[in-house]
Amino acid sequence: MRRLRKTKIIATLGPSSSSASMIEALHLAGADVFRLNFSHGDHKDHEERVDTIRALEKNSGRPIGILADLQGPKIRLGTFKDGPVLLENDAMFRLDLDETPGDKTRVSLPHPAVLESLEEGSILLLDDGKLKLTVMEAGTDFADCEVTVGGKISDRKGVNIPNALVRMSPLTDKDRKDLDFALSLGVDWVALSFVQRPDDIAEVKKIVAGRAAVMAKIEKPAAVEALDGIIDLADAIMVARGDLGVEMPIQEVPAIQKKIISRAREAGKPVVVATQMLESMIAAPVPTRAEVTDVANAIYDGTDAVMLSAESAAGEYPLEAVSMMNDIAEVTEKDPMYQGIIDSKHGTLEATTADAISAAATQVASTIGAASVVTYTTSGSTALRAARERGKTPVLVLTPSLKTARTLALVWGLHCVHTSDAKNFAEMVDKACKISFAEGFTRPGDRVVIMAGVPFGTPGSTNILRIAWVGEQ
Ligand code: PGA
Ligand code: MN
Repeated sequence: MRRLRKTKIIATLGPSSSSASMIEALHLAGADVFRLNFSHGDHKDHEERVDTIRALEKNSGRPIGILADLQGPKIRLGTFKDGPVLLENDAMFRLDLDETPGDKTRVSLPHPAVLESLEEGSILLLDDGKLKLTVMEAGTDFADCEVTVGGKISDRKGVNIPNALVRMSPLTDKDRKDLDFALSLGVDWVALSFVQRPDDIAEVKKIVAGRAAVMAKIEKPAAVEALDGIIDLADAIMVARGDLGVEMPIQEVPAIQKKIISRAREAGKPVVVATQMLESMIAAPVPTRAEVTDVANAIYDGTDAVMLSAESAAGEYPLEAVSMMNDIAEVTEKDPMYQGIIDSKHGTLEATTADAISAAATQVASTIGAASVVTYTTSGSTALRAARERGKTPVLVLTPSLKTARTLALVWGLHCVHTSDAKNFAEMVDKACKISFAEGFTRPGDRVVIMAGVPFGTPGSTNILRIAWVGEQ
């Protein structure tokens, strides 16, 4: 199966999309990577989904990526004695560590590190930013706040604290258990929520120890400030617009999104645009014009992937949502302006053979109108540099590592095939032509551009560029 677009699609699985038949339908319709959201569902649910995806992968012969998204240090209020309470504007409201159910004068905020980091003037946003509290006086175990924007509040609602750097570990106890479990299931990607600093990524990478690639979700002002350091350490970046739009003035989200995409592309790290992309499709079979335009804009900026959350996990139209994303990507990439816009944001090359060969292969392929660029890779690092070129010619990745093939399913323009390494030059050419043909990229008479490394099977040795004709198969 060959996709007719380069931008990838991530679909979150949930109650609306857990049957084997639905997961297969989503994959056929366009989902390249499935996301398991550890904020919802129990371990058994996630395990069943992984088993279903791996069985589907075996049948379809296409490597599928699995992303485990950890909840992270999401801050929540405690509970209320008599159900929801109405906080009036200008009233005083206390947050403390007392676990007794709250009322309209106080409630528990069971995170000592959060209370400690608050000071006079700190802002707290409750329930996705619907309510706003301003701290008047703070101690180590309490904060007296004025209700700046009032409203109804109920048990365990989320709390965002945009401008405080909270001294919390990037992993809660729940995250540590979820991470262990996700790694035992063999997921390809782990996403870390509420990253604040590059050290958060370093800490998680130490635990993951190469068993999965690590994605940093950018959803806090501190992370936006430390963006370059985070991109350096992470294997991929997510523009997590849900919490980002609560923690930052919402009108700044578009510029931040563009900055993140551009920096990630420059670094050659995959980038994902997430949240509310086709939000109205949770309850309707067609999206709004604004949503379609939003998805297309991310694609014009050269994002690696666009993501569906509740649309595919809990909505009424998961399949329609994936098909719609697929259609938007196909049509947008066919726009005659598309390649020019993408090329105008091409980054500078690093002084490495991988970059030299990747850029040369992309240019040669375009000049001679080759049907595909074929790259041999073990770790995937050469393929990432080839994808960074954002060339017009499709890139086939031949890899002896199934893990690499699955991980790269997220990356712009890469069509991965799990196959044994070539043993000699003749086999390198032969395999590239045969697989390009079998995967539907070439016909007899077409040319392919091959990137490989001699000695064969040595990671990091990419040093060959070869043009080959596809003969009669
Ligand atoms: P979430 O992350 O869906 O796990 O909250 C994405 C976001 O905040 O946009
Ligand atoms: Mn989030």
